[in-house]
Amino acid sequence: MREAGQIVAKAKAAVEHAIQPGTETRELDALAESEIRGLGAIPSFKGYRAMAAVPFPATICTSINEELVHGIPGNRKLKDGDIISVDVGAIYEGLHGDSAFTLGVGDIDPEAERLIAATRESLNRGISKVRAGARIGDISAAVQTFAEKQGYAVVTQYVGHGIGFEMHEEPQVPNYGEAGRGPLIRKGMALAIEPMLNVGTRDTKQMHDGWTVVTADGSLCAHFEHTVVITERGAEVTTRLNGNRA
Ligand code: MG
Ligand code: MG
Repeated sequence: MREAGQIVAKAKAAVEHAIQPGTETRELDALAESEIRGLGAIPSFKGYRAMAAVPFPATICTSINEELVHGIPGNRKLKDGDIISVDVGAIYEGLHGDSAFTLGVGDIDPEAERLIAATRESLNRGISKVRAGARIGDISAAVQTFAEKQGYAVVTQYVGHGIGFEMHEEPQVPNYGEAGRGPLIRKGMALAIEPMLNVGTRDTKQMHDGWTVVTADGSLCAHFEHTVVITERGAEVTTRLNGNRA
């Protein structure tokens, strides 16, 4: 899990450095794919089907502005003032890492900046609750309480998840709920925690490409995700670059 997580972290860093006005999202995708394959891993989203009619065609998801998750990279060029969410998954020796971030392109609106900071912080608040003996609801409540206090809506239609030999395993990790409720967190578990916050309503809708999910009201949204494992020594974030806090 650790190796898979570090490969995801390196792919994210490569993508992050390339995010600037004029870059096409398919260039970001190509960078991530070569990084992941170069490190001996397999992109986990490529060909992923779940319940979709068409398999996901790319290595990463790139979702811009009102696009929340599962955006398909293509020839769209990033513009100054856009915000982009990038989701990266990789499989190394059968085990998964899954992580996402939102970043501004060039100069962005202070409101967009505030949304991104709040979403990142809501993830950190969730992660801070991860320990053996705690409940999934402790994570959910920490995310929801912080996000709503900042004035944002928490998306309920998409949730975090257990992760390991499969990208999506039990238990679900909702970004809303009550502390002290839900499945017990135990040593040996691995969780992908992934708050998604909207400026407007919590509702989302799916576009006709079968993948891209947008906010129902077209408002701005952000998404951060880390994969966390629960070991003897406590919670360890596998998808943060070693020695890096971001
Ligand atoms: Mg993800
Ligand atoms: Mg995930």
